[in-house]
Amino acid sequence: VVILDPFKVGRVAVEVARKIHPKRAKKEYILSDEAFERWLGECIQCGNCTFACPQGLKIGSANKKALEGDTEPLAKLFDQCVGCGRCEQVCKKHIPIVDLMVKAARPIIEKEKGKMRAGRGPVRDTEIRQVGAPLVLGTIPGIIAPIGCGNYPNGTEDVYTIVNEFASRGYIVTLTGCMAIDAAFWLDDEGKSVYERYPDDFDKGCVLNIGSCVSNAHIHGAAIKVASIFARRQIRANYDEIADYILNRVGACGVAWGAMSQKAASIATGFNRLGIPAVVGPHGVKYRRAYLGRRDIPEKWRVYDVRNGEEIQCEPCPEHLIVAVETIEECLPMMAKLCFRVADTPPGRQIKLTHYIDLSMKYLKIMPPDWHLYVRSEADLPLAKKEYYLKLLEDEHGWEIDWEKKKIVSGPIKGVDPSFNPTLLERLLPERR
Ligand code: SF4
Ligand code: SF4
Repeated sequence: VVILDPFKVGRVAVEVARKIHPKRAKKEYILSDEAFERWLGECIQCGNCTFACPQGLKIGSANKKALEGDTEPLAKLFDQCVGCGRCEQVCKKHIPIVDLMVKAARPIIEKEKGKMRAGRGPVRDTEIRQVGAPLVLGTIPGIIAPIGCGNYPNGTEDVYTIVNEFASRGYIVTLTGCMAIDAAFWLDDEGKSVYERYPDDFDKGCVLNIGSCVSNAHIHGAAIKVASIFARRQIRANYDEIADYILNRVGACGVAWGAMSQKAASIATGFNRLGIPAVVGPHGVKYRRAYLGRRDIPEKWRVYDVRNGEEIQCEPCPEHLIVAVETIEECLPMMAKLCFRVADTPPGRQIKLTHYIDLSMKYLKIMPPDWHLYVRSEADLPLAKKEYYLKLLEDEHGWEIDWEKKKIVSGPIKGVDPSFNPTLLERLLPERR
């Protein structure tokens, strides 16, 4: 049945909820003590579930211990489980394995408390006016959007690490959905959550809870507002130009660390449509969607300059639109890299490059293998170790350096031009207008 009248839809939704409520009220969502014991007794420790589990969780032995009275091992598995349900599909005894873990972990779950900021909804136009320039110039290095489901292994520390790393570096961090909830649970050494540590404006170094998963549209909205309010792009029937503007100028990157459902996949690709890349966690590969760039094919990285219609080679940024990473250590530098934009100003690129190198050194203990691709002139290099990086460019990449002036003579893919106006849209070029 399709109901097109929105007033009828409202009435039908309320009536259906009223009718269903008595049935739902009788349903038990947590196993009773008897059912818990009965199901534990059914387990034959065949190991099929462990074999099917992407985390390789030892469910059979934990069930056995729980039956003997020690529920701790089963409760511990709850934190590592990503809720995919594969174990239940292969269990010949049809044991509700996830329900058993929830039951065992319930005493811990009930005590979990965190201070969470209320979902705030859309980013205001006045806030965009304030941050439009630093975002486009790159001095606010980017908007980081942890989005999507909370089904990643090992609790909530990963969310804390993502939020804390980027907020402390001056990025704007906008959370939604389960990630916004999980961020409240991990407390730092002073017993504070990220919501207590960082302010909630849409501004440098702030952490915002935008709202539920559905509120992801407000993050899109913020990016669109940068293009429309700050850059005065037409907002109606002009999606490609807005996306083109964001892709080339607005440093932003989403992360669906515990991506589970197709809904989370569509959120990530929704970001992509608007020119915003998204990183997905290890289980994100099951979407079978990836938009991967090839930095090893330089001729593929081309962009037009709106001023004269010239097609020029550019650095690979953002390199990917959807990319899956296996560990949090890979995730952090990847996100910093995906905030590079071809139109970055030298101060903006310098800040972004500093964070990219720093995060790679901190978490992967290596210089990123592609850092030199993002250097357009000596002004892009991290200030603190400029000479060291010039030497690396000369020794490892064969660039020509004028050591007297401390300038790059040759090597970069392209130089810096302050009035460079990049686009991928041919219709914006002078001869097509
Ligand atoms: S598959 Fe079922 S019966 Fe076999 S070990 Fe796992 S829970 Fe027990
Ligand atoms: S639901 Fe949890 S325990 Fe079962 S297979 Fe998935 S991750 Fe493993």
